[in-house]
Amino acid sequence: MALDEYKRKRDFTKSPEPAGKTTRKSPPGRTPRFFCVQKHLASHLHYDLRLEHNGVLLSWAVPKGPALDPATKRLAMHVEDHPIEYGEFEGVIPEGYGAGIVMLWDRGTWTPEMDDVDAALEKGDLKFTLDGYKLKGSWVLVRTKGGAKWSSGGADRSWLLIKHRDEWSGELDIAEFAPLSVKSEGDFADILAKDDPDVWRSNRPAKGGDTGKLFERIIAQAVKMRTERSEGKELSEGSSRSSRASASSGTKRPSAKKR
Ligand code: MN
Repeated sequence: MALDEYKRKRDFTKSPEPAGKTTRKSPPGRTPRFFCVQKHLASHLHYDLRLEHNGVLLSWAVPKGPALDPATKRLAMHVEDHPIEYGEFEGVIPEGYGAGIVMLWDRGTWTPEMDDVDAALEKGDLKFTLDGYKLKGSWVLVRTKGGAKWSSGGADRSWLLIKHRDEWSGELDIAEFAPLSVKSEGDFADILAKDDPDVWRSNRPAKGGDTGKLFERIIAQAVKMRTERSEGKELSEGSSRSSRASASSGTKRPSAKKR
């Protein structure tokens, strides 16, 4: 069964992640079907790309996230299939496998650019078109030379995620430009605060031991990311304001008057 590994790794009495009861037939051939990217602040920040196929979500963990620049190849580790319901999941995994905060960073549909997806996966060359809020246009997942064959599930499951050159490619750093949730519109700190206001207020993890230590780091990271983002915003707002000010003569800003 496709979800065996997913279920084996998790204790659903302790994790809010969906156990995965739904199966549905995925459309055949070049028909749009569900995709999402979950930004996952765990022991390391990464982005999980999930593509619906054969009733499950095929999944790759992309440490640096997707890049819109075709010259930037991003490592994508093929991981276990996830259930369809996982595609809407956002929340806090308090302990165990994947402990941390999950944000629904993008979602929409993906369309294979070939008729036989299984053959493309086996070959290690999956071309597809995304129509999400943030990611669009043509992409490819290509298995690296040393990467294990699709069906073998072997040790080295490394692939590369690459944007094809089209109207949606470019140099914009999409992860930095659009860092928030497409579900709640919040950041990691918001998701954490909503899930457990007490933990958020105290900034102290509920549990001690290794899990507590990990969560201490994750909470600190969520706070740091928010702070950096608000500082970055002020800087860029400031610079665009001053460039606008210098371009217009009618501004009331004192710094502009001096020029
Ligand atoms: Mn993950």
